[in-house]
Amino acid sequence: MHKLIRSALLTALAFPLIACATIDSSADAPSVAANERVRAGQQHPQIVAQFGGAVEGPLATYVSGVGERVAVAAGIPGQCTFTLINSDVVNAFAVPGCYIYITRGLLAIMNSEDELASVLGHEIGHVVADHSARRQNTATMTTLGAIVAGVLTGSGDIAQLAGQAGQMYALNYSRDQEYESDDLGVRYLLTNGYNAYAAADMLHALGLNDELTTRTSNRDTASAIPAWARTHPLSADRVTRANSRAQTAGAARGTPPERTQPYLQAISGMIYGDDPDQGFVNGRTFSHPGMRIAFEAPQGFTLTNTTTAVLIAGPNNARAQFSGGVLPQEGLEAYANARLRQLIGQARAQIGQPQPSTTNGLETVSIPARAQTQQGQIVDVSVTAYRVNDRVYHFLTLAPQGASAAMTPMLGSMRTLTTQQAAALRPRRIELVQVGARDTAQSLSRRMAYDDLQLERFLVINGLDSATALRAGETVKIVSYAR
Ligand SMILES: [Zn+2]
Repeated sequence: MHKLIRSALLTALAFPLIACATIDSSADAPSVAANERVRAGQQHPQIVAQFGGAVEGPLATYVSGVGERVAVAAGIPGQCTFTLINSDVVNAFAVPGCYIYITRGLLAIMNSEDELASVLGHEIGHVVADHSARRQNTATMTTLGAIVAGVLTGSGDIAQLAGQAGQMYALNYSRDQEYESDDLGVRYLLTNGYNAYAAADMLHALGLNDELTTRTSNRDTASAIPAWARTHPLSADRVTRANSRAQTAGAARGTPPERTQPYLQAISGMIYGDDPDQGFVNGRTFSHPGMRIAFEAPQGFTLTNTTTAVLIAGPNNARAQFSGGVLPQEGLEAYANARLRQLIGQARAQIGQPQPSTTNGLETVSIPARAQTQQGQIVDVSVTAYRVNDRVYHFLTLAPQGASAAMTPMLGSMRTLTTQQAAALRPRRIELVQVGARDTAQSLSRRMAYDDLQLERFLVINGLDSATALRAGETVKIVSYAR
């Protein structure tokens, strides 16, 4: 969440992943359908905003350059758009129209340009093989939950609020589609003279990262499954398979050598973990050093930080959104009222009395309401707004009738941070280190800016299985605090 973006709600959050042909198979050369390029271009700003904003600059240019080489190998030069997403979530995904998204969280666990090319090739493979068209629409729908099925039309922002949690799960491929994309990715690596084993290495690195994420996650099961694994089912199978594909193609392990140096130089200094401009999500706690605020979601809830709001999803279709704005002259109650009207839109609703109170010393106004969906389902919604000097922060909540109490502790946890607490929220970054003659994985890992699992984290970002494999003179990554 960026500083003070007015009006919490993500407009048109539910980008439609419309299934239709991506590649014109009647032509000799593959091409991306023009109408899909247009549609993907229209969705692009919303996708970027929802997943954390885009990283600009030399690193983004480097990623696009590697991506374009892969697109050339796939026979679709100049027909793809590559975007580096400013998120520590480990993920990459493709949208029909060949808009390819990759997170800096995924870049952080890669160690060569070959590995980057393998991931981008895998995503382009999904586009070229037209997997979104063959994906079953029903699978997408069911993940959105019961409320979304009953979403009301013309209902302002309530539909988006209900639908937000489904977004993370909307892009699911079958195992066979994953295999096909893996094979295409290996083929593109070979065409470009990259080391074909990079695909297997990358899948292996993702597996190691999954294990660490599962260990370090104190969240519920949904978010404990890393994003990449949710959208691209990963298995030991795929590693074995990618290895044998490289072998069959006659590739050799060390020839050509993987392009590690240009890759590592490109990501040197990259932010690792949360970007302080967007605030820190630590398990169920959100804290923002610039805004100097924090809150905590209840057990079983997950937080997703976007550029415009923090999205909160819990059991029983409980949903909330946290954002902020400027305090209007008319005061806090007027602000809360306006947000509630915006949320309910044209839906039939009973609106309760505004309830003024104080939360951890902050002036608070809460307005409950009960709204009816188009299908007649009753949902409880609310706005709770807090004044922090001349700013306002607020939660919007949505839950099936009678189920909103689960979110009450969260509404009571909103608080300001002291200068010291805010200062303790320090950003981390990737730093390159040359292995000295006496360095070991253990000794280098002690420089990792973490209190726990230093060695495990060091091994994962360097794609290493065990602590035995360091060579003097080679370059490795550590995570340090940004100065
Ligand atoms: Zn995939």
